[in-house]
Amino acid sequence: MPSRKFADGEVVMGRWPGSVLYYEVQVTSYDDVAHLYTVKYKDGTELALKESDIRSQSSFKHRKSQSSSSSPSRRSSSRSRSRSPGRPARGRRRSASQSREHKDDKKKTIQETSLALLVLVLFKPSENNTKRYNGEPESTEKNDTSCVILEQKLKPDLEVKRVLEQYSLRSRKDDKKKEEIYSEKKTFVAVKPIEKVPTKTKELEFGGRIGTFMMVFLLPATVLYLLLMCKQDDPSLLNFPPLPALESLWEGRVFGVFLLWFFLQAVFHLLPVGKVVEGLPLSNGRKLQYRINGLYAFILTAAAIGVLLYFQFELHYLYDHFLQFAVSAAVFSLALSIYLYVRSLKAPEEELAPGGNSGYFIYDFFTGHELNPRIGSFDLKYFCELRPGLIGWVVINLAMLLAEMKIHNLSVPSLSMILVNSFQLLYVVDALWNEEAILTTMDITHDGFGFMLAFGDLVWVPFVYSLQAFYLVGHPTTISWPVAAAITVLNCIGYYIFRSANSQKNNFRRNPADPKLANLKFIPTATGKGLLVTGWWGFVRHPNYLGDIIMALAWSLPCGFNHILPYFYVIYFICLLVHREARDEHHCKQKYGLAWERYCQRVPYRIFPYIY
Ligand code: NDP
Repeated sequence: MPSRKFADGEVVMGRWPGSVLYYEVQVTSYDDVAHLYTVKYKDGTELALKESDIRSQSSFKHRKSQSSSSSPSRRSSSRSRSRSPGRPARGRRRSASQSREHKDDKKKTIQETSLALLVLVLFKPSENNTKRYNGEPESTEKNDTSCVILEQKLKPDLEVKRVLEQYSLRSRKDDKKKEEIYSEKKTFVAVKPIEKVPTKTKELEFGGRIGTFMMVFLLPATVLYLLLMCKQDDPSLLNFPPLPALESLWEGRVFGVFLLWFFLQAVFHLLPVGKVVEGLPLSNGRKLQYRINGLYAFILTAAAIGVLLYFQFELHYLYDHFLQFAVSAAVFSLALSIYLYVRSLKAPEEELAPGGNSGYFIYDFFTGHELNPRIGSFDLKYFCELRPGLIGWVVINLAMLLAEMKIHNLSVPSLSMILVNSFQLLYVVDALWNEEAILTTMDITHDGFGFMLAFGDLVWVPFVYSLQAFYLVGHPTTISWPVAAAITVLNCIGYYIFRSANSQKNNFRRNPADPKLANLKFIPTATGKGLLVTGWWGFVRHPNYLGDIIMALAWSLPCGFNHILPYFYVIYFICLLVHREARDEHHCKQKYGLAWERYCQRVPYRIFPYIY
C-alpha cells in the first residue's frame, strides 16, 4: 500500500478542483482507503484532494527562486500594479546576462525538458474601489492575500512566442490597456513543470442518462404539441389535436428558406464590423476572442425584411408554414448536434465542457461535449445563442402581426399583438445591445454545445417563445387601454430589475474596480472573485431571474384568460429558472465553498423575496 506523502497539519499547496489554481491549504486528515487528503483552505473550505493535486510549499518556493524574478528588488516589484506576465520575458533576458550559472541553468532547462510557465497571481481587493462586505469575520478577509498559482504546460524555444501570446506577454504599454479587466490582479512568472487538468463530469444533471435520453424526444414532441394546439379553434388542454400526416410536416422549399436564413445570419456575423472582445479566462488561462456585432446583424436583417415587404413579399408565408419551419429547424439542430458530438471526440481534453464530459454518449450528446466548438474563429455556440433563433423570433412575431391583420382584415394590429411584439422586441434588442454580457453566462462558461443548446437556440426560442403572437392570430383578444398600460408598467418593472441586475454582475466580473460599483460590497472568495452582497445581488440570489419572470408574465397577460396555452411560456420559464438556479447554486457552492454559504446566509432568498 503506498504511504502518504503529506502529514496532518502540514501546510501545502492544494489545487482547486477542476482548475489550474493552487492555494495554500492545511492537511487535516488522510483517508487510507480512498487515498484522499482532506485539506482546509484559508477561507475555511474543506475538500478531499488526491495526492497528485497537492504540492509541497517548498517546491513552489524553490522554483520561484530559480526563476528570473528572484532578486529581492525584483521580487518586491513583482507585487506592484505594473507587474505583468510580460516581465518574465524581460527577466529571463536579464538573468541570462547576469550570471553564466543562471544562463547554463536556463539552457539546461530548455534543452532537457519543456519550458513551462507559472503565473503567480496575488489578489488584493483592498486596492480596488469596490468595498468589501464588512460584516464578515476576520477569517474571510484573510482570503485577500491568498496566493493563486496558475500553471501552464509549454514547449521549448519554438513555442515561446506562442506562450507569450497566450499569456498576453506584451509590452507594459499594452498591459496598461488590459488592466481594465481584472485590474486588481498582479502577476509574476517562474519556471514550473507540466501538468494536465482532469475535467471528467462526475455529477450528472437533467436526470442523468435516462433523463437526457427522454429529453431528446420530449423537447421536439412538446414543440409539435404546442404548435398543433395553438392552431386549433379550441386550444383547451384536454382537447388533443389530431396528429398531422407526416408528409404535411416537411417541405423542401421551407427547409431551403430556413438554411438561407441560417447562413445569411452567419454571413452577417462574419462581417468585420463591431469590436472584438475577450471572453472570461478558460481553465487553461486562455481567453477566446468574440466579435460583438449582433446589433448590426439585427439592423441588416431589418433592412432586408423591409426590402422584402417593399417588394410585396408575403411574410405571412411564415405563419402558413409555421409547423414546417419548426420541423426544418428541428432537423437542422439534430444534424448540427450530431456534427458537434462527432467533432468533440477529437477535441483535446482541456477544451471539453466541465458539465458535458461524463463519458456517456447520450448525456454528453445532450448537454454538449465541447465547450467552445469553433470553425476557425467562427464560434458556433456563441453564434447560435443570439443570432438565428433570437432574431428569428422577432421576424416570426412580425409575421404573426401581419397575418393577424390579413386574416382579420384589420387596418392596424390589435393592442394585444402590439404589446406582445413590442415587449419581446425590447427583450431581443436588449440582448443584442448587451451582447457582451452573454460571455459571463452559464451557457458560455459552463455548458458545452450539444443538443440542449442547439435545439434550444434554433427551435425552442423562436417557435415556443413566439407562442403568444401565434395564439393571438387565431384567437383575437381585446384589452382596454388601462389594462394595456398596467401590463406595460409590469413589463417595465421586470425589465428594469433584469437589466440592472445583469449589468451590475457583468460589470463587476469584468472590472471589479469600476468606480460605478464603488458603493457595492462583496465577500471575497478563495478563487479571487468576489460575491456581491449589496445592490441587486444582495436583494435575492438571482435578481435577474426575478426580472425575467416578471417580464414573462407581462408577455402572457395581453392574451387574456380564456386559455392557459399563452401562459405556457411563463409556467415553463419559472420551472426552467428554478432548475437553472439550483444548478448554478450547486456550481457556485463547489467553486466558492464556505464563502458561498456565507453569501446564502446573508442573502437567504433565491429568486422571489420572502417566498423562495
Ligand atoms: P447568471 O447571469 O445569473 O449568472 C450566474 C453566475 O453569476 C454564477 O454562476 C456566478 O458565476 C455569478 N454570481 C452568482 N452570484 C453572484 C454574486 N452575488 N456576485 C457576483 N457574481 C455572482 O446566469 P444565467 O446564465 O443563468 O442567466 C443570464 C441571464 O439570462 C439571466 O438574466 C436569465 O434570466 C437569462 N436567461 C434567459 C433565458 C431565456 O430563455 N430567456 C434562459 C436562461 C437564462 P461566477 O462567480 O463564476 O462569475
